[in-house]
Amino acid sequence: MELIEILKQNKIEYKENEEMKPYTTLHIGGNADLVLFPKSIQEIQLILQHVQPIVLGNGSNVLISDSGLRQPVMILRHLNRIEAWDQKIICEAGASLKDVCLQAREHTLSGLEFAYGIPGSVGGAIYMNAGAYGNEMCDVVKEVVVWHNKEIKTWTKKKLAFAYRHSCFMENDAIILSVVFQLNKGNQKQIQMKMDELWQKRLEKQPLDQYSAGSTFKRGSDYYASALISECGLKGHRVNGASVSKKHAGFLINDNQATFQDFYQLMEEVREIVEEKTGKVLEPEVKILK
Ligand SMILES: Cc1cc2nc3c(=O)[nH]c(=O)nc-3n(C[C@H](O)[C@H](O)[C@H](O)COP(=O)(O)OP(=O)(O)OC[C@H]3O[C@@H](n4cnc5c(N)ncnc54)[C@H](O)[C@@H]3O)c2cc1C
Repeated sequence: MELIEILKQNKIEYKENEEMKPYTTLHIGGNADLVLFPKSIQEIQLILQHVQPIVLGNGSNVLISDSGLRQPVMILRHLNRIEAWDQKIICEAGASLKDVCLQAREHTLSGLEFAYGIPGSVGGAIYMNAGAYGNEMCDVVKEVVVWHNKEIKTWTKKKLAFAYRHSCFMENDAIILSVVFQLNKGNQKQIQMKMDELWQKRLEKQPLDQYSAGSTFKRGSDYYASALISECGLKGHRVNGASVSKKHAGFLINDNQATFQDFYQLMEEVREIVEEKTGKVLEPEVKILK
């Protein structure tokens, strides 16, 4: 039976020939042939029996080609249940980090404050081992439930090969379904104060009113990409609708209807100039999908 028939029969939400821009924080990308919006693990399982899709959470770390995507895309935004139990938070992969942090605060659980301002889903954050202000997801993850080799499995932290902006999910095609965070009993007022303080820092330093994917390049072992880009005089450097933020040199932004090509060329120019002037080779953090 054709996939669309299966989706219809099982009442799985989908859209055909869907523009991808609104599903990304960079607001760049052409149409995907098929976008799937499962509402349960059962629906995901059914989908995965028929296709191996590209998975997206909140699209806050992806750059999508203007010619769009032929491989089906599965967006997990409806898989957003969050529960607190003892000193753990158990949540589905599509839950937003912000909501998870707020739930942790509600239950006076400390450890996730650093993640409050990262605009991703839990699945995307685990995939990226997202981090900020001295902490990373690997500091608080206990285990992850995944779909791998046509089975649902539970993988403990040890198996996830976390490193700076790296997890095992970059090397296998497993799909993160849900996550257990192990937190500590804290003080609600202090948790709130930490979240407020870090949010304030972001507001001051980052161009949060512009389309971006956050820091475009990874930190190196002995440098911050933003410092090198700034030292090279590249703040405001532009390729058509894409430019290096004047507020934070690590953020490349789409400030005037940038195309994929504009943004990609800007990344290349920044990399070339930084390498020429400093000898350091910047490695992209943003995931390119085409
Ligand atoms: C303003 C701004 C600030 C940011 N600040 C930070 C920061 O401080 N620290 C930081 O680390 N990042 C930061 N980011 C980048 C981004 O928010 C994080 O990398 C985030 O974790 C990505 O989550 P996402 O759900 O948006 O992932 P997506 O962009 O949707 O996906 C990213 C990758 O993860 C994969 N993926 C997503 N979900 C799953 C899943 N369930 N199973 C398997 N693979 C999956 C995708 O296929 C893709 O390869 C920032 C971005 C913006 C726009």
